[in-house]
Amino acid sequence: MKEVLSGNEAIARGAYEAGVMVVSSYPGTPSTEITQHVAEYEQIYSEWSTNEKVSLEVAIGSSLAGKRAMTCMKHVGLNVAADPLMTVSYTGVNAGLVIVVADDPNMFSSQNEQDSRHYARFAKIPMLEPADSQEAKDFIARGLELSEKFSTPVLVRSCTRLSHSKSVVQIKPRHTPPIFEPENDIKKWVMVPANARQRHKFVEKRLEKIARCADEGKVCMNPVEMNSEEIGIVCAGVTYQYVKEALPEASVLKLEMVWPLPMEKIKRFAEKVDKLYVVEELDPFLETELKAAGVEVQPLERDICGELSTDRVKELFGTESPEPAFDPGVLPARPPNMCPGCSHRGVFYAISKLKLFAAGDIGCYTLGLLPPLNAINSTVCMGASIPMAHGMDRATEGELAKKSVAVIGDSTFFHTGLPGLLNSVYNSGCSTVVILDNRITGMTGHQQNPGSGCNIKGEPAPQVNFPALLKAMGVNNIRTVDPFNVEDCLDALKEETAKDEVSVILTNRPCIFADRSVMKPPFYVDEDNCCGCTACTRLGCPAILWKKDEKKAFIDETLCTGCELCSNVCRFDAIHQRES
Ligand code: SF4
Ligand code: SF4
Ligand code: SF4
Repeated sequence: MKEVLSGNEAIARGAYEAGVMVVSSYPGTPSTEITQHVAEYEQIYSEWSTNEKVSLEVAIGSSLAGKRAMTCMKHVGLNVAADPLMTVSYTGVNAGLVIVVADDPNMFSSQNEQDSRHYARFAKIPMLEPADSQEAKDFIARGLELSEKFSTPVLVRSCTRLSHSKSVVQIKPRHTPPIFEPENDIKKWVMVPANARQRHKFVEKRLEKIARCADEGKVCMNPVEMNSEEIGIVCAGVTYQYVKEALPEASVLKLEMVWPLPMEKIKRFAEKVDKLYVVEELDPFLETELKAAGVEVQPLERDICGELSTDRVKELFGTESPEPAFDPGVLPARPPNMCPGCSHRGVFYAISKLKLFAAGDIGCYTLGLLPPLNAINSTVCMGASIPMAHGMDRATEGELAKKSVAVIGDSTFFHTGLPGLLNSVYNSGCSTVVILDNRITGMTGHQQNPGSGCNIKGEPAPQVNFPALLKAMGVNNIRTVDPFNVEDCLDALKEETAKDEVSVILTNRPCIFADRSVMKPPFYVDEDNCCGCTACTRLGCPAILWKKDEKKAFIDETLCTGCELCSNVCRFDAIHQRES
């Protein structure tokens, strides 16, 4: 049977067919849907872990116990998981272990554009790179076999284009994997220096062996498609699709495994063509390796920033690009914005009004940086808000703590916010932390977390009690506010930032997508009372519009979720709620 699947759906199917027993992940665009689809298979234990380090460690535990495992994350998630990654390379695996990492060229939803292929070289483990959904599915099984054959974790690299585009996939039944007894091998699994020194030697030999097998076509086909001998292209992953479309006459060596490289095979291919090019997205990873191995690679004026496309490959080779079907410039701009009724908006309005410096974090609330709120001043990585606010506080002997806050969502707080807050309390900081608790991981599409009260399958799960948790961490000032009550937010921010010890302000409204029952009848503007003061428009709610000629506000009632925030900021009694 054939089905049309996205790369992410195909990876989930691949795990199912290959007999994977455990999938543990932290959501991150573009990888999130893999684990959501895995959760639909009752034969697989799946979970949202609290962060990527934890998710990889859960998967390592499953491998040690003799059950095939997979963990999925976005590229920056692999930074969080880098600690266990570097050492599981040394321990090796028992049952197969695949780590799916999805890069985001062009940063459609990311804070940086890093190229995860470096991690394969860094950790000295193989990396497979599928070019379409069929390969995305097949490479999970292949990765697991490779993992078991060489006792190595295996990285499978996706990217936004592969994760989210669909192609035809041949569906097969679930396979019964080889049986592994749980391992109890101290020399292999306990990485004290004496054991680790031996395992390092094993790692180096393993890499050589895999590279040799790759050259002999024993672990990956790395197929060669010979056409014209004038141009030969080395490429991998989705870039292969762009090359085939842009340069149908060229000969192509398509690398299915991008680390370690089948260098002898590449050299043989290079000898068969007049000019050899490497076409790759992001860093010149393959090009650098080929040049270091003495392969002559023709230069290309390639921008290493951003996503490749068929047209960009055509431009690189000087072939004509077709006229675009439409001019994107004629479309109205649709800047990102928090949803109407988002429970974060009132807090940002208050932060902006008080002109506080907000050390932000990763989530929907990063959008608080946009006008008219202009309420986020820094965003670096998951969990950075609280330590950065603490650093500003300590660097100025508490002075900046009176003028700043850290803003973090509930899921990000569980991910890496907890140690940051503990650090501030332990080191006698006095920063103010706002935890935007909307009981869901909003930005990646509403995944459950330890605050949601249910697990990935929607079954009941223990729900974190924030005040009790914060109290246990040593926070003395804990305050809960209604984020739709601006006066409440302003009072809390003023009073807590004035204190000489750590304070935490918790918000208490769910994301409207997590709990639709909170939606209420819409609000409207009574034009007779509206004096055009513009206060409501400064909330940045997409439902609030401005009538230019009349100089009055207007609410699009089809978008309004009835959150009340605008009526709370209007001082002229001009915003009222419909009865139903
Ligand atoms: S998804 Fe939820 S948290 Fe994110 S912007 Fe929309 S309402 Fe806010
Ligand atoms: S806040 Fe009230 S008075 Fe001011 S523009 Fe909005 S509706 Fe009109
Ligand atoms: S009540 Fe006001 S702020 Fe809330 S969604 Fe409706 S228009 Fe937007």
